[in-house]
Amino acid sequence: MRSLSINTDVLIVGAGPAGVSLAINLGKRDISTIVVDQKQKKNIGYKACGDALSPNSTRKLYEFSGIKQPYGDEIAENLKTAHFRPVSDFELSLDFVSQTVDRLKYGQRLLESLKEYSSIDVKTEHKVVGTIVEENQVIGCKVRQKDGKKFNIYAKIVVDCSGITGIVRRGIPVSVCDKFPNKLKKEETIVSYREIIETSEPHEYQYQMRIEYHDEMPPPGYFWIFSKGEKKLNVGVGWLLNDNNKKANVKTIHETIRKKIFPSAKVLDAVGDTLPGRLPLYSMVCNGFLTCGDAATLVNPISGEGHGPALLSAYHAADIVEKAIRNNDNSEEALWEYNIKIWNYYGYEGGLGIAVHKLLAAVPFSDFSFLFEKGIITQEDVDAIMGSTAVKLPIFQKVIKGMRKPKLLIKVAKGLLLAERIKKLSTKYPSKPNRFYRWKKKIEKIERKRI
Ligand SMILES: Cc1cc2nc3c(=O)[nH]c(=O)nc-3n(C[C@H](O)[C@H](O)[C@H](O)COP(=O)(O)OP(=O)(O)OC[C@H]3O[C@@H](n4cnc5c(N)ncnc54)[C@H](O)[C@@H]3O)c2cc1C
Repeated sequence: MRSLSINTDVLIVGAGPAGVSLAINLGKRDISTIVVDQKQKKNIGYKACGDALSPNSTRKLYEFSGIKQPYGDEIAENLKTAHFRPVSDFELSLDFVSQTVDRLKYGQRLLESLKEYSSIDVKTEHKVVGTIVEENQVIGCKVRQKDGKKFNIYAKIVVDCSGITGIVRRGIPVSVCDKFPNKLKKEETIVSYREIIETSEPHEYQYQMRIEYHDEMPPPGYFWIFSKGEKKLNVGVGWLLNDNNKKANVKTIHETIRKKIFPSAKVLDAVGDTLPGRLPLYSMVCNGFLTCGDAATLVNPISGEGHGPALLSAYHAADIVEKAIRNNDNSEEALWEYNIKIWNYYGYEGGLGIAVHKLLAAVPFSDFSFLFEKGIITQEDVDAIMGSTAVKLPIFQKVIKGMRKPKLLIKVAKGLLLAERIKKLSTKYPSKPNRFYRWKKKIEKIERKRI
């Protein structure tokens, strides 16, 4: 007998960008939904983040679902240029449109907007502590309230929007679904640490987004400086974990670099976290289950941009979840279309990101100025790597251009080829679950390739 339990059509775990965007889109469709988050209501939206959010993503979200783009004091600054400094004496500057946002304010506005929808029930300070599985499907979650009381929420579809923890996915045994890992490997995660700082005088980086390499960081680390106004900045460091850098202390290294660049800045907020650094999960659904945002590993592995993908993946999920609820079919097959959409959308970006990480691990940073100076890596390529456009990379032309360093160029060509092959496979995502394993084998083979 099911005691101390409630039932709903959809249970969303996590009220970050993915969870709230999905809830708004399900509210518009009048689907009975419960959203749970472990945080206090006033803290929803706050997150360790570089705070950069591309207006391209929020514009798309507005066009798709009417959610207004960040405005007023939700925007810290409109960024106009991006600067990459792979070595101390070389810098590539590009025109680049982005924004730094106040995540708490933007997140709170989206959360508040859920009051408009009578089909949506938000439960804050409710922590999911387990996944409930029956036969071969997910049927709900075990939830613990602030006062320690536990109860179960049963749902036709459970959507994991819990970020890097992937709390629901973790609890799905392989016997129910072997198409995604329930835990990410260490080397599929990026460790990072960031501070919001205030300078006493106007700083020199206004309207800029900068990515720099510093000797203090282990490769493939990067230091970012994102302006948040005349005297405010978001600065941070991160790297994809590997055997050589796993012992390096991200906080200490961050502080050393920040003190070098901004010796007298006041630290307003400091926090570290991890983010996924891999291709999207090979499958993001199983019977009664779907996942969006960081929990589905939808972060650009090179720029770390995951806020936009979280908002947009949830929009796509809403369409498919609605169909499944209305058709009374929550099977893996009914939810499969989500995999196809998301892989088409983010597979290429993920592939480029993986290729760039492999390159960064194989090519000394000092060689990167050569690649930019010779036009082997161009603005278009950087745009694609940062996730703003998708370009066709003319690999062989690039190799010929740089014949002065053949070994380096072979590595670059290999990296670009790898990205191209992932892109191709992304657009050929299997149309049905039973064709999945052949496709997975192919993509894993490409991913294993060394540069
Ligand atoms: C240091 C750092 C810098 C970053 N910089 C950028 C950047 O500049 N630009 C960008 O676009 N992205 C950036 N990202 C990534 C971005 O923050 C994420 O991609 C984005 O927040 C993902 O949204 P989400 O909704 O999937 O997950 P989250 O924002 O992580 O939200 C998950 C929610 O689930 C809740 N939750 C978790 N576990 C449970 C549980 N057991 N029970 C109930 N609730 C639970 C959490 O409380 C949280 O509210 C950065 C990330 C880090 C760590």
